[in-house]
Amino acid sequence: MLFNAVEDSFYQMLVLINIAIIIATIAGMEAISWAMHKYLFHGPLWFIHKTHHGHGKGWFELNDLFSILFAGIALWLMWLGHLSLDHRFWLGTGISIYGIIYFIFHDWFIHNRFKAFRSNNRYLLAIRRAHKIHHKSMKKWPSEEFGLLVVGRKWFRGS
Ligand SMILES: [Zn+2]
Ligand SMILES: [Zn+2]
Repeated sequence: MLFNAVEDSFYQMLVLINIAIIIATIAGMEAISWAMHKYLFHGPLWFIHKTHHGHGKGWFELNDLFSILFAGIALWLMWLGHLSLDHRFWLGTGISIYGIIYFIFHDWFIHNRFKAFRSNNRYLLAIRRAHKIHHKSMKKWPSEEFGLLVVGRKWFRGS
């Protein structure tokens, strides 16, 4: 009985830790993509990222390679950790969830790459406003609002 109770609380602890890893990974991914967007994409990797700022042709953009790269890293981590369901698996899960959120909000809702996705949600309208300001600049520099999910308070005004 006692052993079972100890074992139960061990598993409950493990579930909480794994949920914490996923949440921290999602938050970390927003910070990493902000920094990469600002310092790499609008820096040395601009020749790829510019296809997302109106310099590309067709539906597929060279910039999509970045999404494919992150998806690859996520799947690889999940593969490495899938037998023991260790931290690598949950890290990969967090990156995947961030990727799905990014895809739905950025590619679908903001850029309408598929069937129109309309919403009057205050948060969604604010992140769209902020990202559209980022796209106002067709140039490498200057630009602003490099994050996606975390945007300044000013973008919420008027919604
Ligand atoms: Zn950009
Ligand atoms: Zn965009």
